Amino acid sequence: MIILKLGGDVIERARPSLISDLKSAASNERFVIVHGGGDEVTRIAEKLGKSQTFVVSSEGIRSRYTDEETIGIYTMVMCGKTNKEVVSSLQKSGLSAIGLSGVDGAIIRAARKKKLIVVDDKGRKRIVEGGYTGQIKSVNKDLLLTLMQKGYVPVIAPVALGDEFEFLNVDADRAAAHIAGALGAEKLILLTDVAGVYLDGKLVSEMTAQEAKSMMKKVGFGMEKKLLACVEALTMGVNRAIISSGMVQNPVTRATKEESCTVVSNE
Ligand code: ADP
Ligand code: MG
Repeated sequence: MIILKLGGDVIERARPSLISDLKSAASNERFVIVHGGGDEVTRIAEKLGKSQTFVVSSEGIRSRYTDEETIGIYTMVMCGKTNKEVVSSLQKSGLSAIGLSGVDGAIIRAARKKKLIVVDDKGRKRIVEGGYTGQIKSVNKDLLLTLMQKGYVPVIAPVALGDEFEFLNVDADRAAAHIAGALGAEKLILLTDVAGVYLDGKLVSEMTAQEAKSMMKKVGFGMEKKLLACVEALTMGVNRAIISSGMVQNPVTRATKEESCTVVSNE
């Protein structure tokens, strides 16, 4: 079983070969798809007159500051638009894709972060209200397994269900990692707009979880969260976490063959 995360750029600029490649890969492997799409959330929020801000945690993780109005827009765009666009293109290729989110069937339960420690660009720390972002607590693996047994390919939007049944923003890379861990998947594949992790201009083809942890401080925003997600997946028992480009010909096959990508594993 493979948990495949599609980044926002991968969805927006997807080559037709991504869909056909996924369709053929799904004939002999079970897939769960998780998608991102934060840039579209930002564009639509700003069209609605709601400007978006981003904060950086003391661990160096960048995330959207999700207040009450923002979680509404985030949920509308992720679940209402992006999720359905992914499902529709997979259905068009003949795959039985079913669109879901962490809210549906309580697939992802999370706890709302009460306070956030954020760091400004001068390195000063301050505590802010947590807003509507969640720490993932559990995954309803039975529902996903039932759907897969019937031949459906779940496509999951990164919105979780909180303790008070509120919608919570969860990072899609990390949601994919938790789903992979809960399902005991062999692989987590994060398809993005770069070939993998670059260090000093070179693609790093392999690293251990320990190396990925220390690499988090050396990479820029976007990649720090992918490395964290890979480390989390390995901690939860996933064998291999792969960061690979979704912008190339047959990106799923290439990632499974581990051609020019970054593989995080402890083997
Ligand atoms: P996605 O939408 O697929 O989640 P992100 O934009 O969040 O993608 O993360 C991928 C981005 O991370 C790349 O486009 C790149 O700009 C950025 N990045 C920062 N540091 C690195 C690095 N060291 N190696 C590769 N990419 C990096
Ligand atoms: Mg991202």
